[in-house]
Amino acid sequence: MSSTHATPARELPVRNPRTGQHDCTIHPLDTAALAALGDRLRQAQPAWAAAGVAHRAAVLREWATGLLAEPAAVVDALAADTGRHRLALSEIQSLRGLVEGYAAMGGALLAPPAERASVVPGIAIDAGLVPYPVAGVISPWTFPFLISMLDAIPALVAGCAVIVKPSEVTPRFIRPLMDSVRRVPELAGVFAVIEGDGATGAALIEEVDIICFTGSVATGRRVGEACAKSFIPACLELGGKDPAIVLASADPVQAAQVVLRASVQATGQACQSLERIYVQRPVYAVFLDALVAAARQVELNYPDLRKGQVGPLIFARQAEIIAGQLADARARGAQVLTGGEIEHHGGGSWLRPTVVTGVTQDMPLMSEETFGPVVPVMPFDDIDEAVRLANDSIYGLSAAVFGEEAEARRVAARLDAGAVSINDGGLTTEAFDAEKNSFKLSGMGPSRMGSSGLLRFLRRRAVLIQRGRAKVMADLDERGAPPAA
Ligand code: NAD
Repeated sequence: MSSTHATPARELPVRNPRTGQHDCTIHPLDTAALAALGDRLRQAQPAWAAAGVAHRAAVLREWATGLLAEPAAVVDALAADTGRHRLALSEIQSLRGLVEGYAAMGGALLAPPAERASVVPGIAIDAGLVPYPVAGVISPWTFPFLISMLDAIPALVAGCAVIVKPSEVTPRFIRPLMDSVRRVPELAGVFAVIEGDGATGAALIEEVDIICFTGSVATGRRVGEACAKSFIPACLELGGKDPAIVLASADPVQAAQVVLRASVQATGQACQSLERIYVQRPVYAVFLDALVAAARQVELNYPDLRKGQVGPLIFARQAEIIAGQLADARARGAQVLTGGEIEHHGGGSWLRPTVVTGVTQDMPLMSEETFGPVVPVMPFDDIDEAVRLANDSIYGLSAAVFGEEAEARRVAARLDAGAVSINDGGLTTEAFDAEKNSFKLSGMGPSRMGSSGLLRFLRRRAVLIQRGRAKVMADLDERGAPPAA
């Protein structure tokens, strides 16, 4: 095609969450460029897979070491994307543990097993694992680097080539990240992180052999349908409305401190944020007092990025969703004890920890993802009631139970969620080796954590060797059939 007919390059402005300014522009890859990238990676992948897991781990280690020796460019870009510094740094620092963890796991899991005899006499089985050639990763704006790497690193260790498409809301880190990847040419041959939006994500599905998607249920459904049409597996990690149950046997003051942190961390913009707190009546008053007192101590990281604990709301529309849920709850009789108003500073939107009581299960604040530092608290009397309320959700991502350990574990066993933290919240973000599935509308596919996190990028191939007598046509002759029993 002549260049006069070429589609003009698209440009997307990117909003800065601290200033509200559109101070950055990205250039989504068009479908032709994406197809060319897919072809290039597909050609390089067989050598990457053949090089062996120890070699792939060494290449990834070289990249991680280089990036972590000079992380400033990526950290600063990620801090600009998300309006927070400490979490940006810890996202980047998580790379070392991911690479080392999956390198060690890969060494054990990918070693070729010895040939074995089948239960059918004469046949031997040589089992092997074959990576999907090209894996696609589509990630959200919540933890833009960490969530991209949670899927990309095990895929690369498994021997896939990988294309990551982060969110168009938080794309600044991509260019400095790719600079670091290009310093390790072998890795750059099989690994690309690209700029783009939903259309780019949809086009990516056409180019790859497996998709790992993290994002909302609505988009996850579209991604799942597109993958089904292309006959490729879709690993979906979607939304959550995580409940916490605080039992009468809990230390209510300690539980309040932890619940606050697990609800408000990352300004509540995390899938595993605690968003519904059910507290057994005997400890309700003490818990609530401690929660409110602790919530009042929390500071915004404005005007100084390097002070306070709560950053801005990253996604402008989310501020409207949170404000709408709070207005609805207030109109129906809920009481807002702290925070509660979206504050506009310097062009960005902030919300202080917002403790709400007088809530009912039918309020959107208790049933839909809030994605803000909002802590709705409801008392309960008996444990059956708490379990029923906690399970009354379309989501089943994770949950938390606070209390005496044996009792808390009995309650955990009744919760319809893929992971339950006991006497803590969101432990799945710390212990990456805990296998878990996302229940109900929170997701689909194998566990992203633990050994399944690596094995989902590999298909099993069996080579079956006949060492006995292979059947021939005479074995099909009706005249030789044994008499019917
Ligand atoms: P989103 O669904 O709007 O977007 C996620 C990604 O999908 C983005 O990169 C976007 O560009 C891309 N996309 C949009 N349309 C697409 C399409 N048709 N085909 C392919 N890709 C497409 O989600 P978001 O607003 O960025 O993130 C917030 C959501 O992510 C929340 O629901 C949150 O709970 C969820 N989340 C889940 C987890 C988890 O591990 N379960 C972790 C973090 C966030």
